Amino acid sequence: MSVKWGLIGASTIARQFMINAIRAQADGEIVAVMSSNPERATAYAGENGIPAAMSSLDALLGSGIDAVYISTTNELHLEQALAAIRAGKHVLCEKPLALTSADARNMVAAAQAAGVVLGTNHHLRNAGAHRAMREAIAAGRIGKPIAARVFHSVYLPETLQGWRITKPEAGGGVVLDITVHDADTLRFVLGDDPAEVSAFTQTAGMAGGGLEDGAMCIWRFNSGLIAQSHEGFTTRFAGTGLEVHGSEGSLIASNVMTQKPDGSVLLRTAKGEEQLSFDREDLYVRSVRQFHAAIRGKGQPAATGEDGVWSLASAEAALQSASSGKAVKIDPKLGSMN
Ligand code: NDP
Repeated sequence: MSVKWGLIGASTIARQFMINAIRAQADGEIVAVMSSNPERATAYAGENGIPAAMSSLDALLGSGIDAVYISTTNELHLEQALAAIRAGKHVLCEKPLALTSADARNMVAAAQAAGVVLGTNHHLRNAGAHRAMREAIAAGRIGKPIAARVFHSVYLPETLQGWRITKPEAGGGVVLDITVHDADTLRFVLGDDPAEVSAFTQTAGMAGGGLEDGAMCIWRFNSGLIAQSHEGFTTRFAGTGLEVHGSEGSLIASNVMTQKPDGSVLLRTAKGEEQLSFDREDLYVRSVRQFHAAIRGKGQPAATGEDGVWSLASAEAALQSASSGKAVKIDPKLGSMN
């Protein structure tokens, strides 16, 4: 039996990656798309070969689907996810799960109570590069991890220069957009949780409405490791990367904070340098495959709802730190605390 999907949101990310990722599964089928605008729903369905177009959530949830993929603007995720959960649908939701970690916790609790799968679409966990780094660290190849650096400041493409840089009420800003990914990727690669963050944010000329378009964060993890991350929308030529430095070696990954299975991972130790090999599967295809397995009772989504709470609590703490000028503790059970 195939998993029948309904798309909530006539979005760019679904068009560019997720429609393909669902259709790449032997057991994946897209039944309907919902947009708040009926004309856009119909046009989007037509352009993407989706059988049904809808403009009401109730109609989508009543259309015989098993699962929803939510990729609307961020302020809508909470209510749409809760409605889907109430209707007994599995939910793969884009990051950030909600605008606050308290709301995200409610989503996790609702999914648990309803017995449905809730996943967060943190695609970077599915990158072969990050999985190779996680394995190398877990195998002790760099000794004790001491410090990490994330380079994730990009140039927001013109086509995406909308709500992300104009609408605080839609959950815009680079921290909810990219810092959430960096917090999640660090947790995944290090196998460790952040305890505290100190952040500076900036407006470097692109974002308005009081939103930040650049951020630098310093994180302290439970093990004592410290990390820095740089997120931005305005640096055209920066490139991306992730480094983890340990007592016995360093992992230096270039061009890996991306949506494509690109980049390289170098391991440097006393023995010399080695390029790690890793699989180049599409990140989103792997994400949907794991989600389907979780629906069938085999394992969990690549990033669970709880992981989405963690990444949002981390981003929330970074924003609080940037506004208060103080380090902020991160506790996904309680939200962030000054
Ligand atoms: P888009 O701006 O493309 O889409 C978001 C919403 O905007 C859509 O649901 C749609 O509303 C509305 N919209 C889209 N096009 C138009 C238009 N031409 N005119 C008016 N409204 C329009 O957002 P993204 O695809 O970039 O992001 C969507 C979500 O996915 C966000 O939560 C984001 O954080 C996340 N994301 C995640 C990524 C990842 O790799 N994990 C990457 C990119 C985004 P409606 O449905 O009502 O038509």
